[in-house]
Amino acid sequence: MQDADYIIIGAGAAGLTTAYELKKQGSSVLVLEARERVGGRTWSGMLDGAEVDWGGEWIGSSQHRVYALVKELGLHTFPTYDTGLKVLELRGRTSTYRGTIPSMAPWKLLQIQLAIWIIDAWANRVDIATPWNHAQASEWDATTLDAVRRKFMWSADARATMDAAIRTIFGAESGELSMLHMLAYVKSAGSMNNLISTEGGFQHDRISGGAQSISLALMNSVGTENVLLGQPVTAIAQDESGVTVTCASGKTFRAGRVIVAVPVPLGDQISFTPPLPALRQQLMNRAPMGAAVKIFVRYERAFWRERGFSGEAASGDGPVSVTYDQCSEDGKTACLMAFVGGKFARTWHRRDPLERKKLILDRLASYFGSEAKQPVAYQEMDWCGEAWSGGAPIALFPTGTLSTHGPALREPIGRIHWAGSETARQCMGFIEGAIESGQRAAEEVLALG
Ligand SMILES: Cc1cc2nc3c(=O)[nH]c(=O)nc-3n(C[C@H](O)[C@H](O)[C@H](O)COP(=O)(O)OP(=O)(O)OC[C@H]3O[C@@H](n4cnc5c(N)ncnc54)[C@H](O)[C@@H]3O)c2cc1C
Repeated sequence: MQDADYIIIGAGAAGLTTAYELKKQGSSVLVLEARERVGGRTWSGMLDGAEVDWGGEWIGSSQHRVYALVKELGLHTFPTYDTGLKVLELRGRTSTYRGTIPSMAPWKLLQIQLAIWIIDAWANRVDIATPWNHAQASEWDATTLDAVRRKFMWSADARATMDAAIRTIFGAESGELSMLHMLAYVKSAGSMNNLISTEGGFQHDRISGGAQSISLALMNSVGTENVLLGQPVTAIAQDESGVTVTCASGKTFRAGRVIVAVPVPLGDQISFTPPLPALRQQLMNRAPMGAAVKIFVRYERAFWRERGFSGEAASGDGPVSVTYDQCSEDGKTACLMAFVGGKFARTWHRRDPLERKKLILDRLASYFGSEAKQPVAYQEMDWCGEAWSGGAPIALFPTGTLSTHGPALREPIGRIHWAGSETARQCMGFIEGAIESGQRAAEEVLALG
């Protein structure tokens, strides 16, 4: 006796897209989610009347799947506020600029541009679905991004600018990233520019009501009775006729196939019978999550807008790597977001909370003016302490992982299939990637009948 045709583990954007697509094709589905909410790494809430996205937030440029789904679900987007001066902080000095080119000595800018050209050119050479098959895959996978950064960037300012971007995109330091992962990531995103840009890039739009609205709307379409919250899955056993899934509550469920849509390293917390092949098992315990803390500061007025600032700042010095304007769509609630990533995020929780708040407010004041020291509300979201994410924003593939274990990312094992943003071929690591992976997983199981 089956509880559903398919069981999906994880009610993030990937798992719920899988369920949504399968349900549309007439299959019965059961989604098991560890948390008491849906959305996973997207989680929207309020801070003193201001709508905030504690997790994934922006969509943009070529991410056509998420735009299509947003429309299909009756949601809508609005542009990220991008008007006015931007701030760059490097080695204790702040400068302002407009548009996309920071005010920096031309030879330093040239080094940044050169690094972007090289990364884009190498990325274009890898196959989007199988980067590990490239003739240079082992060589790239034995090299960190830091090694490449040091080779092509001898200006400390140019390197620090890249650090700010890498801490934000990966929640990591460039020494933690394999060059092959970097190239696969850039290829799946289309270009470095897509990753770092607001206008025309991946930070172009926000979703009204927050990015979690996508998962909430998907859950409603799938049927809330088919999404069980507070049910961490502890074991999956497969046999000739189906799979049995066991939750920490002791409940068991039976289906024809299971789609595991949890972040790659969290798969390691589930016990599999029979055991998984070594390559998949090793992939799960070789891929740590990045480290990120998102901090929201609510103000009476958007004083930075009044002073001609966009609210966007980048810092190579840390602890903040970027800031963005987070005012509401109608501009009535004023809010700034500060992102702490990489090494600064990993140890953020060890600092005294008052010291943390002072650090953030001091940085914001140095970027946008002393009014920044007078917030009406302040709230941090530290993803490093989230048991069901294990960190954020994405899983990292350190050196020596993707070239060897990459083929196990999406490869089904009997009746077990894999989804999740890290398994995406396009926009890997983004909400778009989560949706792509969910659509791919649904097609994969439907094709098997
Ligand atoms: C701070 C931050 C900023 C980000 N910024 C952006 C952004 O601006 N734009 C963008 O596109 N992306 C962004 N991302 C990334 C984006 O949010 C993710 O790529 C995407 O949401 C991942 O979706 P997913 O469904 O693959 O995984 P998840 O959202 O992680 O979903 C997995 C689900 O599985 C559940 N789970 C885990 N283990 C178990 C278990 N054993 N049993 C049952 N359930 C389990 C989890 O609770 C979770 O709900 C950001 C992420 C973070 C955290």
